[in-house]
Amino acid sequence: MIIDCHGHYTTAPKALEAWRKDQIANLDKPTAQRTKGSISISDDEIRESLEGAQLRMQRERGTDVTIFSPRASAMAHHIGDATTSQHWTEHCNELIHRVCNLYPKNFVGVCQLPQSAGVDVGSSIRELERCVNQFGFIGLNLNPDPSGGLWNSPPLTDRHWYPLYEKMVELDVPAMVHVSASCNPNFHTTGSHYLNADTTAFMQFLTSKLFTDFPTLRFIVPHGGGAVPYHWGRFRGIAQDMKLPPLEEWLLKNVYFDTCVYHQAGIDCLFKVIPVDNILFASEMVGAVRGIDPRTNHHYDDTKRYIDKIDWLTDADRTKVYEGNVKKVFPRFRLG
Ligand SMILES: [Zn+2]
Repeated sequence: MIIDCHGHYTTAPKALEAWRKDQIANLDKPTAQRTKGSISISDDEIRESLEGAQLRMQRERGTDVTIFSPRASAMAHHIGDATTSQHWTEHCNELIHRVCNLYPKNFVGVCQLPQSAGVDVGSSIRELERCVNQFGFIGLNLNPDPSGGLWNSPPLTDRHWYPLYEKMVELDVPAMVHVSASCNPNFHTTGSHYLNADTTAFMQFLTSKLFTDFPTLRFIVPHGGGAVPYHWGRFRGIAQDMKLPPLEEWLLKNVYFDTCVYHQAGIDCLFKVIPVDNILFASEMVGAVRGIDPRTNHHYDDTKRYIDKIDWLTDADRTKVYEGNVKKVFPRFRLG
């Protein structure tokens, strides 16, 4: 089985976005009712939104199932307040649940959280519990910067987040570290904010005792780990200067990397540097980069092609990356 551990519902029916636009427009109207309301989307509209996109790509690329979450750039936790985020998040997660029910062999759910800068993690814990216990979701996307590029929340290693981590440990679910849209013009959302956040989260983990406090807590650092594999020597050297144990021992029982790297040399670097036990197959389709690379005539995000081309990987290694590691990191993984 080939499990893609990182896909978003970027093709959701237009009614979802229309609801969000109304919600945002109402933020400026003090008298507007702040209710969750409902969104009218038929099962056929959901089918239509997936058949020509994610499902077609699964078939064409030879992958079986995608661990599926709401569109990450649209989480936009910086918009409005905690109530804004709560209503929007519930709708997004409920739609993912419907997708997983319609296609139980193709999609397994992961939730977004109703985060909001400066707000404690209580509502995120409640939404995580709802999604895991009622919807059968198997993980969460955790935004380390709900301000959308201003970075004014405590680091992921701060006690601010600990109640959420306690719940993650109890439910045995991992978090993918995943920022959302950038409202800071210095940072392009997918080109720099995402990759910066991946690198930043890794460095926060490195300089903390988080995994001493939570030995079974698990994070996936997406997009191939940002700059981490490329600069592994720098991170090892910093850890050494700090008299920390080797990174394999210090972090790699808890931190995993996905394969959302969109060229062969980058994937080669990832696999040369990071132990194969810590790499999870992912493509993030349909997502950050949608085009076809004229040098290969294949989609940039068809990451399976790059992995299949690494000739020194053993069959056992490939099985780990495509299936075994994903099941290890997401122990609640089940096909419906
Ligand atoms: Zn993503």
